[in-house]
Amino acid sequence: MFHRTSIRVARSIATRPYYAFSMKAAVVQPVTSMFRLFSMASSQAISNPEMMCRQCEQTKDHYACTTVGVCGKTAETSAMQDTLSHVVKSVSLWANSARETGATEEQLHAANIWTLRAVFSTLTNVNFSEERIAAYIQEGLVIKKDLEKLAVSSTIRPVGPVAETALLGKSLQDFEEFGHTVSIPKRMAAMGDEDCFSLSEIATYGARGACAYAAHCYQMGKMDPDIMKDIHQVFSKLASDEPDMEGLLANVLKVGDINGRVLAMLDDAHATTFGIPEPTSVKMTATEGKAILVSGHDLVDLEALLQQTEGKGVNVYTHGEMLPAHSYPGLKKYKHLVGNYGTAWQNQKFEFALFPGPIIVTTNCVQAPRSAYRSRLYTMNEVGVDGVAHIGEDRDFSKVIDQAQSMKGFKATIEPPVYHTVGFNHRAVLPLAKQVIDAVQSGALSRIVLIGGCDGSQFDRNYYTELAEELPDDTLILTLGCAKNRFIRSEKLMGKTLPNGMPRILDMGQCNDSYSAVVVANELAKALDCSVNDLPLSLALSHLEQKAAAVLLTLLHMGVKNIRLGPSLPAYITPNVLNVLVEKYNLIPTTTAQADVKSIMAGQ
Ligand code: SF4
Ligand code: SF4
Repeated sequence: MFHRTSIRVARSIATRPYYAFSMKAAVVQPVTSMFRLFSMASSQAISNPEMMCRQCEQTKDHYACTTVGVCGKTAETSAMQDTLSHVVKSVSLWANSARETGATEEQLHAANIWTLRAVFSTLTNVNFSEERIAAYIQEGLVIKKDLEKLAVSSTIRPVGPVAETALLGKSLQDFEEFGHTVSIPKRMAAMGDEDCFSLSEIATYGARGACAYAAHCYQMGKMDPDIMKDIHQVFSKLASDEPDMEGLLANVLKVGDINGRVLAMLDDAHATTFGIPEPTSVKMTATEGKAILVSGHDLVDLEALLQQTEGKGVNVYTHGEMLPAHSYPGLKKYKHLVGNYGTAWQNQKFEFALFPGPIIVTTNCVQAPRSAYRSRLYTMNEVGVDGVAHIGEDRDFSKVIDQAQSMKGFKATIEPPVYHTVGFNHRAVLPLAKQVIDAVQSGALSRIVLIGGCDGSQFDRNYYTELAEELPDDTLILTLGCAKNRFIRSEKLMGKTLPNGMPRILDMGQCNDSYSAVVVANELAKALDCSVNDLPLSLALSHLEQKAAAVLLTLLHMGVKNIRLGPSLPAYITPNVLNVLVEKYNLIPTTTAQADVKSIMAGQ
């Protein structure tokens, strides 16, 4: 346990903001409006320079959260996460040294697991608990010492800023104060080059996403030593302040490569553990009876809950990214997995409040809860919210089940049921490939458009609703991630089919299932004897947080071009780095749905 006094240490944080983007009008905003944002952000930061986080799309003013996160993260938690990220780099350096001396993967196991969990806890909408972050820091410092012993004969000795972790104290306050010494402005000043620092941030956030995906794999007992070695190398590179443009660019692409391999492993782990997903119609409306709601991405947790609730008179509902769980034979066999409730994560304050039972959040995305449901909210794994009950690694849901049984649950309703079909994993889509190719060649199918990624609360995310609705009737829409909630209930699209009888929307699953899109694109390209970039395929990605950053890097590493990215560009990409991405990969900022549909249909 930790005791913390409120600290407000005088900080001289370099607060120079240096760019701001809007994707609505042009790639980079005109200098005048950039300057406006620049000044606005700068004055905010100087008047209250308590934190700087800009890792996600909802960051304040498309610049940075500088006093409190738009997500609700406090300056204190942000500082602790900066410290934790620093310890991750230190552990990574020592893990490299230990490997060099011949340490076995068994000896590195604790470091591997800790790395994945600690990094996952720094993603957007995962862990808001200072105590939990402090526990990860403490565990990391112990692991670092163990690695130092293993690496005693290594010629690779960690040097530079990571050595400072040796100076870290033990209290929560110590950890928080240290975080201010390794904040974004401090590290950027140390590197001294904005473009290099931008590359280092791109790799950092992509690596966070890759670690989160790898943590999902580990839930199903999968861990690849080569991937862990590469992850530690990426963070080791990020430990350096050297403005090494080429090395940092290579590190960015390396993250894309690692994440592609992690996604393939995750796809295999899901199919091996729960069976091959199959198209399944999911009831999206309530069923009378007592109820538990499960949100997040980890199917293993859902399975454990289904086992423990069997025969207990409680129905289980999925929420958010759990929706695709209904397509797995190993999960849909449970008759009390009755349907899906609600939409994407950003609506949980409203939806959870109305749900008549307890709610479990297994992974991201969680929001700071309202009092209306705080006492019936449970977190798991890396997710943490102070004052909310956390279910341990034994996955004992007895308290949740008791609470569900003590509540009234859903009443009978006369509302007509609504359904949505999930389960178009690559294993289900590839058998349709001939149908798709015939339709493309006969002109019956004009284009395939992948609309995937994250959802969020910003109004401009309606772009994805409009894009899906504006596409001509003879286009096929592939989707994955929670962005699908922008259009799967659209009257213009729900239940609609293509002229050849195929559904207009093929729901490929969670963002965790992005590998499916890669396989389908590669196989179609093979069948049509062309490259992925020459397929009649357009990609519109909706990014919010670091898993989306990882998927984007994977696509770039594969050489995929012409990706539309929105609803705004990441705040951590400088104009020069953006120019490289535009020139090399033709990364396209989203504009308006109408204009983009025209470009897409013209093959751009
Ligand atoms: S995670 Fe996003 S919203 Fe939260 S503090 Fe960071 S940039 Fe802001
Ligand atoms: S797709 Fe992204 S935004 Fe949506 S729940 Fe998953 S991690 Fe969160």
